[in-house]
Amino acid sequence: TTFQEMHLPEHLLKGVFQMGFEKPSAIQAYSLPRILNEPPMNLIAQAQSGSGKTAAFVLGMLYRVTVDEPATTQAICVTPTRELAVQIVHNCVAPMSVHMVGLRTRMGLAGEMIERGQGVGAHIVVGTPGKVCDWLKKRFIDPRAVKVFVLDEADEMCNESSHRTNSLMIKKAMPPTCQCLFFSATFPKDVLAFAEKLVGQADKILL
Ligand code: AMP
Repeated sequence: TTFQEMHLPEHLLKGVFQMGFEKPSAIQAYSLPRILNEPPMNLIAQAQSGSGKTAAFVLGMLYRVTVDEPATTQAICVTPTRELAVQIVHNCVAPMSVHMVGLRTRMGLAGEMIERGQGVGAHIVVGTPGKVCDWLKKRFIDPRAVKVFVLDEADEMCNESSHRTNSLMIKKAMPPTCQCLFFSATFPKDVLAFAEKLVGQADKILL
């Protein structure tokens, strides 16, 4: 398959090609038709790092976001570490969205401050579950317009009880129609149970 066959809008197709991607990786070929489906579908997918999963879910977030002003938060991605959040934003969201003028992305990490009375002011938030949860509780993030919720490296997330609890809390704060995309390298029983509890009804891509 090709990226053209995925029905990506022109601005994202340009982003993909400018990143030097010629054709979809296996996980992209399997997941993108579901991620981009109308109506949006929930997905539980097995993908190792190096498989191209980041681009798959980032395309999903960018596809659903409308660049408005002031920015409403429409996509949230949580990942277990600061380093991963930084990589997702710098290596993928930023280069993939070069043709989305006005798009704002914010990292939700320990130490990131928001002034009192101000919201997060970003269309996309990428962070750790603890900080995202904190921002939701403090109403710095308004969840009402969120269309996509991504859980990356969910097996690592599942291994740490605070991440697990915070991820479930975030999911509960999302609108019921929000699309959930759940990625994990491995699926031992406890991770699958966590996935099904969090995502509910979902398509599964288990290798
Ligand atoms: P990830 O599995 O998301 O950590 O991605 C691993 C690496 O593969 C990253 O450096 C991406 O830039 C690269 N990559 C992702 N998708 C493709 C693709 N379709 N063609 C070539 N490289 C890709």
